[in-house]
Amino acid sequence: MTELKLYDPFPNMQFSDKHCFLCGAHTEPDNRTPVFATWLQDRYKLRDKELLLLDKSITTYGELTIPCCDQCHTQHVIPLEEEIAAASEQGIAGLQALDPRKLFQWIGKMYYGTLITELIKEADPLIMPQNPVSENPKMLGKFREFFKVLQSMRVPMAFSDFLPCSLFMLEVSPTQDELPFEYHDELTTMAFSVKLGPVVLVCTLLDNGIIGKALGKLYRLTQGQQLHPIQVAEFKARVFYAAYIFNVIPEYFERPIKPGDTHITLDTIIDDVTNEVFNPWEMTAYAHMLEEMLKPWDIREKEILADPTKPISFLLDDENNFKPLERYQKLS
Ligand SMILES: [Zn+2]
Repeated sequence: MTELKLYDPFPNMQFSDKHCFLCGAHTEPDNRTPVFATWLQDRYKLRDKELLLLDKSITTYGELTIPCCDQCHTQHVIPLEEEIAAASEQGIAGLQALDPRKLFQWIGKMYYGTLITELIKEADPLIMPQNPVSENPKMLGKFREFFKVLQSMRVPMAFSDFLPCSLFMLEVSPTQDELPFEYHDELTTMAFSVKLGPVVLVCTLLDNGIIGKALGKLYRLTQGQQLHPIQVAEFKARVFYAAYIFNVIPEYFERPIKPGDTHITLDTIIDDVTNEVFNPWEMTAYAHMLEEMLKPWDIREKEILADPTKPISFLLDDENNFKPLERYQKLS
């Protein structure tokens, strides 16, 4: 059985090709696991597809791997990947039937994989990024809290009364959907989305479900609907923007282990006394985020803020009811 002990690589910044990303054990050069699982690469033909890393260097999905010991690879990573692969074959119903903790772990592993790829690079003295993540104490503190909960992949763990993330599942209408796979993550805000065929998963990784509650009404309106891709883009903009103004970092504490315990229990605290949970909503900042997400449709800020009090919406009508959209035709 796995020892009930968390691994903490942050105090010594133990990010190298010689340490398993998940447990810290020594690894040989061959002991690696793909950040984007082999099944994903096969199913969506990603192996040779290019991927832009944080330092603007280019790699491919096939080349992006992280150090992982045999034990973690075979006992923890592969079983999780197999479970997600099987569930995702059943479409949205399959993914909805999963324990959301599994989706958190799965998304978290991809997020953390891209993060530590950056941290390993920054440890190389020949690489001098302009704003190294490894020298930002606030970000490192956040990553460290995140890694505690991500270790539920390896160490038996109960979360006392929370899920560390907010998770949204959307279904895309096939009518104008041309993308089988898409992935988007933002390192600092920890917002993540991945499209698997007709299903889009959007996740804010370290908010203890707060963003999910804040956007709960909108999310409920999307459920049972097949959304147009432009509606999905707007939904993503709202979630990513909420992650951007999210202003607190949850902290996690282990309860003392007693003899006979079979798992670690984590409690959580959010300090919402010294900080507001959300920074104020700013219309232009949101409009920028939406513009970014709407790039494939070439919709610019001017159009988004045609009514300066109310940004353009493809999801909601004037009464804030769901607005069905079968096809989108740009007027020009
Ligand atoms: Zn390991």
